Amino acid sequence: MRIDSVSAYPLRCILKQPFAYSQKWFRHRTALLVKVVTDEGVTGWGEVFCHDAGPALAAIIERVYRPLLVGRDALAREVIWETLYNWTRDYGQKGLTTAALSGIDIALWDIAGKVAGLPVCKLLGGNFRDQVQAYATGMYLTEKAMADPAVLAQEASAYVEQGFRAVKMKVGFGLQRDIANVASVRKAIGDEVSLMVDANHACDVATAIRLGRVLQDQRVAWFEEPVVPEDIEGYCAVRHALDVPIAGGEAEFTRYGFRSLIERGAVDIVQPDICITGGISEMKKIATLAQTWHVRCIPHVWGTGVAIAIALHVIATLPDEPPSLHSLPPLLELDRTENPLRDEILVTPLQLKAGSMKVPEGPGLGVEVDESVIEKYLCRQ
Ligand code: MG
Repeated sequence: MRIDSVSAYPLRCILKQPFAYSQKWFRHRTALLVKVVTDEGVTGWGEVFCHDAGPALAAIIERVYRPLLVGRDALAREVIWETLYNWTRDYGQKGLTTAALSGIDIALWDIAGKVAGLPVCKLLGGNFRDQVQAYATGMYLTEKAMADPAVLAQEASAYVEQGFRAVKMKVGFGLQRDIANVASVRKAIGDEVSLMVDANHACDVATAIRLGRVLQDQRVAWFEEPVVPEDIEGYCAVRHALDVPIAGGEAEFTRYGFRSLIERGAVDIVQPDICITGGISEMKKIATLAQTWHVRCIPHVWGTGVAIAIALHVIATLPDEPPSLHSLPPLLELDRTENPLRDEILVTPLQLKAGSMKVPEGPGLGVEVDESVIEKYLCRQ
């Protein structure tokens, strides 16, 4: 079975309610979907976590990678991965070239599953769980939340009422504001619900340690991206100074990037984003590396329903770390901010029930993309 066509679709939609994390305000959401079709008419879908680089990623996929893909064996995904990675190695290794490769790799896994008549999680070796517990990512800064921290507490309480047993909020807005916001959210959700915080690398080492000591007192389950991703020494310093587990890796790429993070003891939890770090093929290797070093692996997810389905298949196959009767299972990150791309892209949306999501059971990714939604939000500029 040969690859017949490769297409990339950059999507964009304007938000009704802008929100901010520690780096910038979001006034629109974007996504990049990848479609690969074989000469036997089998279609595979992939997604790239794209920020604002959708059109640039589409150009890499369609102009750099497509000529290397058309006519190749559609089931030789590991061979294709190594070939494309090596093609751009001299100027790639991280960033857009690896992100673009991720979307293609995922589409090839979708095809492999459809050809075999099996869901991706079965192709990966089978699932430990049929349902994956999700945590709600929210509590971003808005105009309202800047004026009144109680807005964040109300948002967190609403997630708990919806059945979430774990929530994640943003920090990195200045020490005093962060401390007040975290205290307010912890008070609202009580002690039984897990609370995680994410600085999106807005702190220097000293500030991260000062904030981290407060987070420990608030029984925070993990402190995510305290410092910039390049500063592995900084990560180690923060981790050694604090008891709160340190998480990171959503801005890291491939097994080579995660090797440094893991071997140097920079994190307790790695968070590869399957849609940017190299796709499902590379995610398997990163997960194995993490397991070898007894580091927990909880993927980062911030995309459409396709990205969520991808994550469900992969997370279902991750072992508990450490294994025991009372281990914490790997969690699904479920972004709760406004995102029509996430909510509209699947013909049958994934259902959240009591804070968990079922792993799709159909062949491949087990989801169907609504191509009219692609037409609606397509933005090639
Ligand atoms: Mg994050």
